[in-house]
Amino acid sequence: MGYVLNENIRNLIPYEPIEGEYKIRLDANESFIELPLDLIQESVQKSMSRSINRYPDPKACDLCEAFASFYSLQSDCVTAGNGSDELISLIVGTFFQSEDELITLAQDFSMYRFYADTLSVKSSIYPKKDDLTIDIDGLIYYAKLSNAKGIIFSNPCNPTSLCLGKSEVLRLCRELPCLVIVDEAYMDFANESVMDEVLNYDNLLVLKTASKAVGLAGIRLGFAVSNPTVTRALQAVKSPYNVNTITQAIGEAVYSHPEYLNVCVERIIHSRDHLYQGLLSIFAHTKLIEEVYSTSTNFVYLKVREAERIFTELKEYSIAIRRMGSYLRITAGTKDENTELLAILARIIKQAE
Ligand SMILES: *Cc1c(COP(=O)(O)O)cnc(C)c1O
Repeated sequence: MGYVLNENIRNLIPYEPIEGEYKIRLDANESFIELPLDLIQESVQKSMSRSINRYPDPKACDLCEAFASFYSLQSDCVTAGNGSDELISLIVGTFFQSEDELITLAQDFSMYRFYADTLSVKSSIYPKKDDLTIDIDGLIYYAKLSNAKGIIFSNPCNPTSLCLGKSEVLRLCRELPCLVIVDEAYMDFANESVMDEVLNYDNLLVLKTASKAVGLAGIRLGFAVSNPTVTRALQAVKSPYNVNTITQAIGEAVYSHPEYLNVCVERIIHSRDHLYQGLLSIFAHTKLIEEVYSTSTNFVYLKVREAERIFTELKEYSIAIRRMGSYLRITAGTKDENTELLAILARIIKQAE
């Protein structure tokens, strides 16, 4: 019995999203729109009849072309992944060596640091300002001083829901010699994408996911967009058959329907605005909510007093949201779901006061 796990993984606990069954799930930033099966039927049937006994296309060419065409990109700038999570793990694990420093921000998506830690990559944290915005000059100064090899952040940000302007992101790329990884998981809800700039910056790598606006969280699909040199390296280090045949077929079909995707984004933004306005009117009448942050995503972020109590009581009403310390993150659901959440939240707050 001499086997001992490495120290960096010995005490880890597997990631467990909120447990139990809930009537209303507003905790994971998924889309509330169910995929119309007729949209994908033909494409999936074709791929099933042709090739389930064969490995998938290692480069997912047709899928990447549909994605590139939807976003008006060159397809040789695109790499598909088994969710953008796989790509984050791959990039952190292979583009950085153990002495290289990767800068993360706080608050930001927790998986960046999770992968850095488990893959033994040195990471550091640059804190955001009290209002959760980013001091770009300070960040540039910090990154130069620490001689960082890369920086990774989400824009718009999960969980703050705030969005950095395109010119600020490009300024980072210009002023820093390191790799700038911008996770645009929520950029379909905002208008500050730098994806169309990857040919102009050799250090820019943009991540996208099909899990949010596109509504395909269940099939695991994400993308990296970068200039052809970085793309070639990424394709060389990825596992060859990382995106399965069914996912490729569904993804290709969905990205080939821009009119469908544009309507999805509109519907989600509409629902998000409904949720945001509702939260603002509760905010106007209570001291328990300290801040409702402006949102460029499909969720709303709040700073509250008694976050744990509100979170737990919502669960008792079978509504799941996400709590992070004294902050709450609420995903936009259907109109009925938002309405129910808002009514119950108002009741909980009234009782707590
Ligand atoms: C949801 C999310 C992802 C999504 O990852 P997938 O693995 O593609 O589902 C990536 N980055 C951020 C910031 C997210 O919020």
